[in-house]
Amino acid sequence: MILVLKHGTARDKVDALCELLESKYKIQTNPIYGSEQTVVGLVGDTSRVPEHDVACLDEVERVVKVQEPYKRANRKFHPADTVVNVRGVTIGGGGVVVCAGPCSVESREGIAGIAAAVKEAGATLLRGGAFKPRTSPYAFQGLKAEGLHYLKEARDATGLPIVTEITNPSQMDLFEEYADMIQVGARNMQNFELLKEVGRSRLPVLLKRGFSNSIQELLMSAEYILSEGNPNVVLCERGIRTFETATRNTLDLSAVPVLKARTHLPVFVDPSHAAGVASLVEPLALAAVAVGADGLEIEVHDCPKKALSDASQQLLPEQFAALVEKARGVAAAIGRSL
Ligand code: PEP
Ligand code: MN
Repeated sequence: MILVLKHGTARDKVDALCELLESKYKIQTNPIYGSEQTVVGLVGDTSRVPEHDVACLDEVERVVKVQEPYKRANRKFHPADTVVNVRGVTIGGGGVVVCAGPCSVESREGIAGIAAAVKEAGATLLRGGAFKPRTSPYAFQGLKAEGLHYLKEARDATGLPIVTEITNPSQMDLFEEYADMIQVGARNMQNFELLKEVGRSRLPVLLKRGFSNSIQELLMSAEYILSEGNPNVVLCERGIRTFETATRNTLDLSAVPVLKARTHLPVFVDPSHAAGVASLVEPLALAAVAVGADGLEIEVHDCPKKALSDASQQLLPEQFAALVEKARGVAAAIGRSL
């Protein structure tokens, strides 16, 4: 349930109203102060809140029922776009952000060189996995804490904030120390204990869609993080499983405008894991920008053939640079900057 307040309701009146509602109905309130209008979202068991009674309160202009199960992630709760700040890089403010780097951090020199190259090509965030959730237990599992350390060195050298994947709540202390944005991967999108743990942090979270999960399930996972108090969530479409075998996954481009309508959270697209092959990454990236993505996450490696994970889909730095150039043109064509 959302209470749209009368124009010009003073902050102290909003605070008093929230206190009253919380104590009377044992629910939580979520006030959003807009330049035009203030709305108060009610979460919890709102069946206890009689619509007629709250509609009659002095400050209330109208009551909007939220049918969807995701409340805090709902665009109705927070009409303006959320802007997430990752160490000074803003996501969701109208521009298009590019996050790039290798699938896995493989060595100190490797990540240092790739970080410098993606920066040069226009990336403003550096990705790289240190804890790798691999399908095979015999595949490279990541350099773990050592990898985080190399990422930090690369950030110190380039200034690019670090985006890296967490796979277990026990890693949280390390991530608080090293990461600028925590990635929750497709395989962990419904690891609810992990979602609650990152929700208790204030670090921005890049939440990737599970390959067999619906858009609504993605939003419910975001709701877990938001409901623990962390408002800094960016969603990421990275392809889903379908009957099609020509690509590793099917990139659900329609998820972008659907999400933009349903939620205020920024939306990224990862064309690398969707495509699974390097030659398809550029066209999918351009399409993602055209359809309104707030950012791209792209895998780049200095020698993809030798990569320890996802070798077939990683771009060479020069291929990545060409992609960014073209993506700039697409962004400009729809009035956005990159
Ligand atoms: C990754 O970003 O390297 C990754 C494993 O992605 P996803 O969780 O989307 O498969
Ligand atoms: Mn990968």
